[in-house]
Formats: sequence, C-alpha cells, structure tokens
Amino acid sequence: MGTFIGKLLRIDLTNRAYSKVEIPSDLYRDFISARGLSSAFLYKELAPGVDPLGPENKLIMSIGVLGGTGLQGFSKWAVASKSPLTGTIFRSISGGNFGPWMKYAGYDLMILEGKASEPLYVYVDPEGVQFLDASEIMGRDPLSTQELLKKKHGQHTEAACIGIAGERLVRYATVTSGQRTASRGGMGTVMGAKNLKAVAINTPVKKPAAFDKDKFQSLINKQIEILKAHPRRKNMTTLGTPYITTVVDALGILPVRNFQEGSMQQIEAISGDQFYELKLNKAGCHMCMTRCGGIRKVSQGPLAGSSIDGPEYETIYAFGPLLGILDRQFIIDANALCDFYGIDTISTGVCIAYLFELYEKGFLSSYELDGLSLEWGNRQTVFRLIEKIGKMEGIGKMLGEGIKRMSRHFSPEASSFAMHIKGLELPGYDPRGVKGYALSMGTSNIGGSHMYGRPREELSGKMDPLTETNKGASIARIQKEQALEDSLIACTFGNSGLDLEMYGQLLSAATGLESFESPEGLLQIGERILCIERCFNVREGFRRKDDSLPSRIVSEPLRNAGPCTGEIVKNFDGLLDEYYEALGYNKDGLPSAKKIADLGISYLAGDIPGVS
Ligand code: SF4
Repeated sequence: MGTFIGKLLRIDLTNRAYSKVEIPSDLYRDFISARGLSSAFLYKELAPGVDPLGPENKLIMSIGVLGGTGLQGFSKWAVASKSPLTGTIFRSISGGNFGPWMKYAGYDLMILEGKASEPLYVYVDPEGVQFLDASEIMGRDPLSTQELLKKKHGQHTEAACIGIAGERLVRYATVTSGQRTASRGGMGTVMGAKNLKAVAINTPVKKPAAFDKDKFQSLINKQIEILKAHPRRKNMTTLGTPYITTVVDALGILPVRNFQEGSMQQIEAISGDQFYELKLNKAGCHMCMTRCGGIRKVSQGPLAGSSIDGPEYETIYAFGPLLGILDRQFIIDANALCDFYGIDTISTGVCIAYLFELYEKGFLSSYELDGLSLEWGNRQTVFRLIEKIGKMEGIGKMLGEGIKRMSRHFSPEASSFAMHIKGLELPGYDPRGVKGYALSMGTSNIGGSHMYGRPREELSGKMDPLTETNKGASIARIQKEQALEDSLIACTFGNSGLDLEMYGQLLSAATGLESFESPEGLLQIGERILCIERCFNVREGFRRKDDSLPSRIVSEPLRNAGPCTGEIVKNFDGLLDEYYEALGYNKDGLPSAKKIADLGISYLAGDIPGVS
C-alpha cells in the first residue's frame, strides 16, 4: 500500500489503554485519508446526539497519504470531531510538525476517546504509549507547553496541545503544533473536555516508501519545477496571505464593522506590503517550499518581545476592518494574544464585533460591560476582551460560548446581525458580493467556513460573482475538489499548479492503487466525503432550514462596497435547489438512498431515518 501506513492508534483516555488497529483497505479506497477517513470513522463510531463535550465524543488526528514523503505542501494534518460550536461534524487543518511525526511513528491517524479522570498528556514513542500527569503543563500557553515537553522528552519531540482557553472550555479553542493552529470549530475545546492537554510524539524520522519510488520521485521533481515557476507561489512566498486584504477591499467584500460595510478608507495601512515591512523572516510548514508564513515581532501582552508566525489574512480581517481598526502592529499583538490563550482569531474577532454592534445599537446595559468602552476601533478594549475570553472571566464567559449561543442572550432583533452559519463565525468574505460563496458557506457541513469550497473563478472575475443562478453545479464541484484536497492534505496555499490529473498520478505512484488515476474517480471520492458528512449532520437533525445565511446577508443592502454596494442575496432558495439537485439530494437537503448506494457507502450510511 506504499505511503498508506495501514494502522491507526486508538487511545482510550478513560481506561488509559491503547491499541494499534489495522485500517481496512476499502476505507482507503473510498475515502483516501485525513478528512475523508476521519469523516468515515466519525460517522461509524459516534452515536447520534452525543454531547460534543462528553466522553462519548471522539477526536481524530490524521495526516494525508502523501504527507511526510518529500512532496511539497502536503504535510499539514487534520483534527476532526463533533464540534462544540456547531454540533456538526467538523475538521480543522493545521501546519507544524505533528502530522508527519504521527506518520513517522507508524500511524495514519489517532482516535482519542473517553475522558481522563485527571488532566494528562499522552506520550507516544517507539516503545508505545504512556499516559502522563499534566500538572506541570496545565495553565501554560501552547508555546511554553511544547518547550517543556521538548525539555522533558528530547528536542525531537513534537506535540499538539491546547492553551488555557481549551482547558477552560472556550468553545472555539485551538489545537497548536509549533506556531501553527487547527483553529476552527473548537477542536481544542474537545481536547480540554477530555482532560487532555497534549499529545506528544518522539520518533525517528522514517519517511514512508512510495509504491513506485522512481515514478513518485520524478513527480516530486516535476512539482518542484512547477512551483518554482508559478507566480502565485512567488506571491505567497513573499507576501503570504496578507496580500489578500486589499484585493478583497477592491472587490467590495471586505467585512467592515461587523459586515455593515464592504470596504474601508485607508486600507493600504494594513496591506500586504505594510505587513511585509514588518516581516523578520520566512516561516512555513514541514516540507513546503512555498513557506507562506512570516515571523513578526510582538510589542505587547504576555508574548511581548518575542515573535510569532503571523498574521494570516483572516486574522487581519478579524482584528482589523471587522472592528474598525487599521493598526498593523495591533493586529500582530492581538494574533499573539489569541495564540497565547489558544483561541481562534476569526471566532474571537466576530464575537467581539457583535458585542460592539450590540453596544452601538443600544442592546447592552452598562453592568454587562465590565467597565469597558465599546466604540468601534477601541484597541485597548479589544485586547482586554481577548484576555477575558481566554480566561473565561467576566463578559468573556458569554463571548467564549461563541456567537450563536451569545446571541440568545438578546432579542431576536439583535440576532439578525450575529454573523454565523450553523454556529460558525463568518470568515473575511462578505457573501453578498460573491453569491457562490454565499451558497458554499450556507451549505457547508461545518458551518460558515471559507475553506469548504472556495469559488476561485468568481473571486478572480472569471465568473460573474453577483448573478444568482446557474451556480449550484459549480459550487458542488468545488466542494468535492476541496474534500478531495483535504483528504490528501494538499495545502490550499501551497498547491499552486496542481490539478486532478497530477493528484491522480501522485496517488497511484505513492500507493499502487491505479483506481486513483481517474480524475472522475477522484471527484467521486470528494462527493462521497461530502455525502458522509451530510449524512452525519442529517442524523443530528440538520435539514434545509440549517443551510441558511445570517439575516443581514439576505435583507440588509451592503454599504460602501464599491461594485457590491446595495447587494443582498435574493435567490438563496433557488441556489439551494440547484445545489441539492447537482448532488442528488432531495428538496430538504437529504441525500437519497440511491445516491448513497451509487456512492458505494450503503454499508456505512444505509440506515438513516427519513432517507429513502
Ligand atoms: S503554503 Fe503555507 S500553509 Fe501551506 S503548507 Fe506551505 S507554509 Fe504551510
């Protein structure tokens, strides 16, 4: 099976026991690895209705079949679970070395289940697995946690861990490896609920051998040549994702002051070039020549004087225009503070923006404010609020529950500007100006994510972003492609110049499975993954009504947004019908029994009530 390792590590935290389990080859064939395999296991092993923060929930850490092989930009890793933020199936992807280390230790994935009676961390080495007391690392931030684990177990140890926010169950806590995070959906919260501070791996580097070594190596060489010449790769290496800010502003889809407007005066103050000026060094993930990250100095807070890898575009959006701020150093400092506590920068910024607008519109009483002044652009307040969220204290307790739960404290009128889909706070693209994004985010099985299907053609102007018909099939296809890429894991920022054909050749050379060579076959795997994720959510009670957009997006014209001024999403129902039809789902968003059978997964999902 070449670069498929063939084994998973099952870790039972309740009983402090573990086992190494063979992964059936038909699961590889049907779901490949990482997101696909994790979704299949979550569907199979989680009973409907489990409490995401209860011991019955499971957390799956995984790496793609092409990770750790020398291929560039394929060594990120994924963590998947039922999300405490959305109640849906969820996956979040991170860089750092943890994923390759898992593979070098001999596993394609790890399933963490149960709940430890006391806080602990799991230590994995060639001898096996140990369950070790976490009292020395509890209360520590992710960076110092990892330093301490390296000191204790050797510099060659790589860990995935949570910060204080994960311990205190902030619902959007992250999992950190190195300086990179699996940010979204509260995967760190699930770790915290299991009393699991970290998973540490100490293993010799042992690259998996490809099935056809010569062919695989020649494909790696070809990929390197493609990347060297690719303009997008060059842009990413120099500027990284911060270059996106001014592009999105020019399109009129940069969310400003909680999605009230779509562009901002003097946005150049936080452009890619401005962040480039502060870049001290390049940074990147294991085995990636794109190295899109940038090291920058922190000027305030507990990490003052040190430096971080950041910020990415999404963090610039969340602590910049979304809050009415144009201060690049402040954005770096807010990023560092979130990293220190271990919280998602997007969810944090969106929850704070909601609070600011509640204040602006008179929905907050003064006793709820903890003495803070909540005008747009108030950086000091934002900093204090991040601390309060990280510690889950004062008003931070409400913010740390996520925007959906937070909005329940206020009148229905106030929930109209709570910017989330299925409970996941929205990223930095206003869906009113890119209707394909509205459809993709609205139908995403993990909620309002920009990484569940990115309508590149609309964003680049190759397709009209403002029309609201004939988009269902293209968004269905884009989501299938993304599901496939997440199952490899091909980094969205590091896969420049690759296509389905190249993925097929790589997979076939790596694994010896010729069935992967067909681009149509690969798309069908993507569709199968989407389908099993939808089946998971259907079992949880999700239906068409949940494939919806925040009321601001469908009713309030976008202001100050250049070409998108005055836009709302008018025909979301029509787009939904198209999308469901393209995927063989019924009008209520349920896959048909025939579709499940056609995708060959009746053995997994042939028993869903209501599906016919
Ligand atoms: S392109 Fe950036 S995020 Fe992607 S693998 Fe490379 S360094 Fe990591």
